[in-house]
This record gives sequence, C-alpha cells and structure tokens, in this order.
Amino acid sequence: MAQVKDYAEIVGGSVIDELFAIGEKAGTLKIQHVNSTAVGGGVAEILTRLVPMMNELGVRTTWDVIKGGEKFYAVTKKMHNALHGVPETFVENDWAHFLEVNRENARSMSFENDVVFIHDPQPIGLVEERSHLDNKWVWRCHIDFSEPRENVWLFLKDFIERFDGAIFSAPAFSRPLSTRQFLISPSIDPLSDKNRDLDENYVRSIFEKFNIDLTRPVITQISRFDYLKDPVGVIKAYKLVKRYVDCQLVLAGGGATDDPEGERVLSDVQHAAAGDKDIFVLLLPPSSDLEINALQRGSTVVLQKSLREGFGLTVAEALWKRKPVIASAVGGIPLQIKHKYSGVLTHSIEGTAYWIKQIINEPAFARELGKNGREHIRQNFLITRHLRDYLLLALSLYHDKDIVYL
Ligand code: UDP
Repeated sequence: MAQVKDYAEIVGGSVIDELFAIGEKAGTLKIQHVNSTAVGGGVAEILTRLVPMMNELGVRTTWDVIKGGEKFYAVTKKMHNALHGVPETFVENDWAHFLEVNRENARSMSFENDVVFIHDPQPIGLVEERSHLDNKWVWRCHIDFSEPRENVWLFLKDFIERFDGAIFSAPAFSRPLSTRQFLISPSIDPLSDKNRDLDENYVRSIFEKFNIDLTRPVITQISRFDYLKDPVGVIKAYKLVKRYVDCQLVLAGGGATDDPEGERVLSDVQHAAAGDKDIFVLLLPPSSDLEINALQRGSTVVLQKSLREGFGLTVAEALWKRKPVIASAVGGIPLQIKHKYSGVLTHSIEGTAYWIKQIINEPAFARELGKNGREHIRQNFLITRHLRDYLLLALSLYHDKDIVYL
C-alpha cells in the first residue's frame, strides 16, 4: 500500500512536506469517522484510504460503521432519494425507527474523540450523544443537496444544527443553517488499485475475460445499480448511437450494503439490455478495484449519466485515466468537468448520444479532453488535498477565533 511520501511524484514534494507539518499540529487530536457501509459507494471508497493516511501523518484516526436492519436501510434509502428531490412518503414510524437504530448503535459505540465526523444522514442521530461530551462534531454531507424534499430536510435540519459545522461537496448544496458550513470536495487516490497505472496487457486481459471486443468502441458507465445513476437512460443513449456506430456498452457495478434498491434496478437494466449481445451488464463483487480500473482505462468513452450526484467519484477516476467523460450537468459533476474542455456535460439522453458519436469520431478531441481532465483532477481532487482540508478543519474547530482558509 502506498505511503504518504509516495504521492510526492504526483503532487510535488512541497505538498507532502506541508501535509506532515499539518499532521504534526493535528497530532494532538483524535479523530473518528462514522458512516453506514464499509464497502460500496463513494464514502467507503474515500475512508478506506483517508483513515490510514491520517494515521500515517500522526493523527490517531478511527472509522466506525453503524449497523441497521432491512427496515432501517429502507427508510434511509427513502431519505437519500428524498434529499435528491425524489418524492417519497414517510410515516411517523419511519422517523421513530430511524432514531431507535441510531440510539441502539450509540449504546455500543464510544465517541471519546476530539473530532467526530458523521458521514451522511444514516448515522446523523448519533449527534444526540454529544450532550454528554466536550468535543467537536461535524456532519459531512456527500449528497446532492440542491433540491431536498421539505419533509426530510426539516427532519434532518434539527440534527444538522446540533453539529459544530456541516461540510458540503459543492457550493450549490449549501443551505440556510445556523451552524458553520464548509466546502470540501471529495477526492480520489491516484495510487490505489482503483486508479494506479496498469500494464496494457492486464487491461486487455480484463476485457477478454468479459468477452468485450477491444477492436470496436466501448462505452462504459461504472456505478452502483441505482435509479439516480440512470442506467436505463444510458442504454437508451447507447441504442441511439448504435444506429450509426458499431459500439458496445458496459454497465458495471455492484451494490452497497446500505442500498436495498440495487436488485430491482439491476433487474430493470437486464430487461432493457435483453437481446443485445453488445451490452455487458457486469455485476462486480466489492473487491473489483483492479477490474474497474482496467475497464475505465480500456474504454473509448466513459459516461456518468446521473440524475443527481453528490460528487461522482467515477468521473474523477475516469478523468484521472485521461478518458473523455460525458456526464450529466448535475450535483458535483460540473466542478470536475468544464464543458468541452475537461469533458462534456449533457442534459438529456439525446445529448448524451450526440456526444458519444462526436467523441468516437474525433479521437484527437477525445485525447484533448482526457489530457485537460487529468490535470484538473491532479490540481483539485486528489486525496492529498482532501487530507489537508480535513486536518485544517479539525484544527480550526479548536481555534474558533482564528480564521482558517481552506
Ligand atoms: N464502485 C465500485 N464498484 C462498483 C461500483 C462503484 O468500486 O461496482 C466505486 C466507484 O469506482 C467509485 C465509487 O464506488 O469509486 C462510487 O462513488 P460515486 O461518488 O461515483 O457514487 P456513489 O456510489 O457514492 O453514489
């Protein structure tokens, strides 16, 4: 596994020196992260690397995952959808069950740390515990918060305002709140198995393993099977392109343990893909980082046709690999893509299809997008920047009167 110093070759030695200097200052603090899944989805992806790197910088950091049953995840998935603007109905018992599971988890956990980062809504009720403690709590929101439904927003707002601060991934997600708000974008780890350079033969072997033909264009979307990732919309866009270009489509993803809708979405996708042998629906187990890395690298175009998106790590991952990315102009995606410069932003199935054809037909343009995309990610969305922001934020919570610019 890569060590912090290994990142110097990518971000420069001064960035690493600064990280160790900040780590030394923050070394007096103990930090705890809490979320609701150890595998699957962007939050787990980030914490898997961020937590060991914080420890390596000398900041004692732990990561806890709350547990819940089927009913809890059904409620939290409804909350997740409603926060993304999808109409969902809640009954009184939903809120009560949500809080009960949070309280049950709290009974078997300890929060005796200086800074507690609670990620996303699922464990937000744990903040009730802070009344017995003299420490700092931050709510880290990874969700596209641009148009939350009123019912779920009002329920959560009460909890969010008990934190010392709330972190959002993009400026558009900031809301009127009585607590401090911070803007910290997520990041990718360029040296993880998901993103590190790969041998071309290995990339080819993965395509062979799945019987995908590398002599014809390959369009790929990597995502959990979730309606908000619009996999059926991707199939429709591919079918429009297929009338003119002999291409293939890869829809690869797995589930997350806190997402109960995956199976239904997968079955819709399989139905929409039925009968076309050039559509590859790949259900990947959690330990598929190298395969995903290879699929992104070997693809001609990478899509992220989300209807809502907190940030979209998959966009950063593909841009880092110099891939031309076509993605919806939603949530945190426009932070990563400047239209026609570091990728392409679209608003519809037809627009996505149009740009897939353009990119397949113009390899020089595709290369330019990929080159600019990689540099944009290098400068803004690598894990070293994320580590720095979290550590400075943790320090700033204990220096209320100082202004710290992140
Ligand atoms: N991912 C994965 N396996 C899958 C599907 C996705 O490892 O089957 C990874 C993907 O590479 C990315 C993360 O999960 O690192 C998804 O993060 P993103 O922000 O794109 O979406 P989220 O799932 O958090 O909504």
